[in-house]
Amino acid sequence: MTCDEWRAFLQDYVDGGLSEPAKVMIDRHLSECAPCFDDARAHRGVQNWLSSRPELEPPASLVDRVMESTRRPVGGWRRELIRIAAAAMFVAGLAAGTLAFVPLERIEKPSVGLPKPDVGPLLRIAGW
Ligand SMILES: [Zn+2]
Repeated sequence: MTCDEWRAFLQDYVDGGLSEPAKVMIDRHLSECAPCFDDARAHRGVQNWLSSRPELEPPASLVDRVMESTRRPVGGWRRELIRIAAAAMFVAGLAAGTLAFVPLERIEKPSVGLPKPDVGPLLRIAGW
Protein backbone atom coordinates (compact mmCIF):
# COMPACT_ATOMS: atom_id res chain seq x y z
CA MET A 1 0.00 0.00 0.00
CA THR A 2 1.09 3.57 -0.62
CA CYS A 3 1.30 6.21 2.08
CA ASP A 4 -1.80 7.94 0.62
CA GLU A 5 -3.73 4.69 1.01
CA TRP A 6 -2.53 4.30 4.61
CA ARG A 7 -3.45 7.91 5.36
CA ALA A 8 -7.02 7.30 4.25
CA PHE A 9 -7.38 5.17 7.40
CA LEU A 10 -5.65 7.53 9.84
CA GLN A 11 -8.80 9.29 11.09
CA ASP A 12 -10.51 5.96 11.80
CA TYR A 13 -7.28 4.75 13.40
CA VAL A 14 -7.17 7.75 15.73
CA ASP A 15 -10.91 7.47 16.46
CA GLY A 16 -10.45 3.79 17.35
CA GLY A 17 -12.82 2.71 14.60
CA LEU A 18 -10.63 0.04 13.02
CA SER A 19 -10.54 -3.69 13.57
CA GLU A 20 -7.62 -5.06 15.57
CA PRO A 21 -5.83 -6.57 12.49
CA ALA A 22 -6.14 -3.25 10.62
CA LYS A 23 -4.89 -1.35 13.67
CA VAL A 24 -1.85 -3.68 13.92
CA MET A 25 -1.05 -3.13 10.21
CA ILE A 26 -1.22 0.66 10.56
CA ASP A 27 0.85 0.51 13.76
CA ARG A 28 3.51 -1.36 11.81
CA HIS A 29 3.46 1.19 8.96
CA LEU A 30 3.60 4.14 11.37
CA SER A 31 6.64 2.62 13.07
CA GLU A 32 8.45 2.58 9.70
CA CYS A 33 7.16 5.78 8.04
CA ALA A 34 7.90 9.17 9.61
CA PRO A 35 5.56 11.27 7.36
CA CYS A 36 2.56 9.03 8.13
CA PHE A 37 3.51 9.01 11.80
CA ASP A 38 3.52 12.83 11.77
CA ASP A 39 0.08 12.85 10.11
CA ALA A 40 -1.26 10.43 12.71
CA ARG A 41 0.11 12.63 15.48
CA ALA A 42 -1.56 15.69 13.88
CA HIS A 43 -4.89 13.82 13.72
CA ARG A 44 -4.53 12.88 17.38
CA GLY A 45 -3.71 16.51 18.28
CA VAL A 46 -6.84 17.80 16.57
CA GLN A 47 -8.92 15.11 18.24
CA ASN A 48 -7.48 15.99 21.67
CA TRP A 49 -8.09 19.71 21.11
CA LEU A 50 -11.71 19.07 20.02
CA SER A 51 -12.40 16.81 22.99
CA SER A 52 -11.03 19.47 25.37
CA ARG A 53 -13.58 22.03 24.09
CA PRO A 54 -16.86 22.35 25.93
CA GLU A 55 -19.75 20.90 24.02
CA LEU A 56 -21.94 23.65 22.63
CA GLU A 57 -25.70 23.49 22.56
CA PRO A 58 -27.42 25.31 19.72
CA PRO A 59 -29.99 27.87 20.79
CA ALA A 60 -33.49 26.44 21.03
CA SER A 61 -34.76 28.89 18.42
CA LEU A 62 -32.36 27.51 15.80
CA VAL A 63 -34.55 24.51 15.02
CA ASP A 64 -37.59 26.74 14.60
CA ARG A 65 -35.71 29.11 12.31
CA VAL A 66 -34.35 26.27 10.15
CA MET A 67 -37.76 24.66 9.85
CA GLU A 68 -39.33 28.00 9.00
CA SER A 69 -36.78 28.68 6.26
CA THR A 70 -37.38 25.28 4.64
CA ARG A 71 -41.17 25.49 4.73
CA ARG A 72 -42.68 26.20 1.33
CA PRO A 73 -45.76 28.29 0.89
CA VAL A 74 -48.81 26.06 0.59
CA GLY A 75 -49.51 25.20 -3.02
CA GLY A 76 -46.46 27.10 -4.25
CA TRP A 77 -45.56 24.74 -7.06
CA ARG A 78 -49.22 24.23 -7.97
CA ARG A 79 -49.73 27.95 -8.27
CA GLU A 80 -46.66 28.17 -10.51
CA LEU A 81 -47.95 25.30 -12.69
CA ILE A 82 -51.31 27.06 -13.09
CA ARG A 83 -49.51 30.26 -14.17
CA ILE A 84 -47.51 28.34 -16.79
CA ALA A 85 -50.65 26.59 -18.10
CA ALA A 86 -52.52 29.91 -18.26
CA ALA A 87 -49.64 31.49 -20.20
CA ALA A 88 -49.58 28.53 -22.64
CA MET A 89 -53.35 28.79 -23.16
CA PHE A 90 -53.04 32.53 -23.75
CA VAL A 91 -50.37 32.01 -26.43
CA ALA A 92 -52.44 29.24 -28.06
CA GLY A 93 -55.48 31.53 -28.04
CA LEU A 94 -53.50 34.32 -29.69
CA ALA A 95 -52.33 31.94 -32.42
CA ALA A 96 -55.87 30.64 -33.01
CA GLY A 97 -57.23 34.19 -33.11
CA THR A 98 -54.61 35.27 -35.60
CA LEU A 99 -55.42 32.33 -37.90
CA ALA A 100 -59.16 33.15 -37.71
CA PHE A 101 -58.55 36.55 -39.31
CA VAL A 102 -56.32 35.33 -42.13
CA PRO A 103 -58.33 34.79 -45.36
CA LEU A 104 -58.47 31.12 -46.34
CA GLU A 105 -57.22 31.71 -49.88
CA ARG A 106 -53.98 33.10 -48.43
CA ILE A 107 -53.50 29.91 -46.47
CA GLU A 108 -54.55 27.43 -49.16
CA LYS A 109 -52.93 28.97 -52.24
CA PRO A 110 -49.25 29.62 -52.51
CA SER A 111 -48.60 33.26 -53.30
CA VAL A 112 -45.87 32.41 -55.79
CA GLY A 113 -46.46 29.94 -58.60
CA LEU A 114 -43.77 27.37 -59.02
CA PRO A 115 -42.55 26.60 -62.53
CA LYS A 116 -43.55 23.21 -63.83
CA PRO A 117 -40.57 20.91 -63.55
CA ASP A 118 -39.06 19.59 -66.74
CA VAL A 119 -39.60 15.87 -66.89
CA GLY A 120 -38.07 13.30 -69.19
CA PRO A 121 -39.88 11.84 -72.26
CA LEU A 122 -41.13 8.68 -70.47
CA LEU A 123 -42.79 10.69 -67.71
CA ARG A 124 -44.26 13.09 -70.30
CA ILE A 125 -45.87 10.09 -72.09
CA ALA A 126 -47.19 8.84 -68.75
CA GLY A 127 -48.94 12.17 -68.21
CA TRP A 128 -46.58 13.79 -65.75
ZN1 LIG B 1 3.57 6.21 5.05
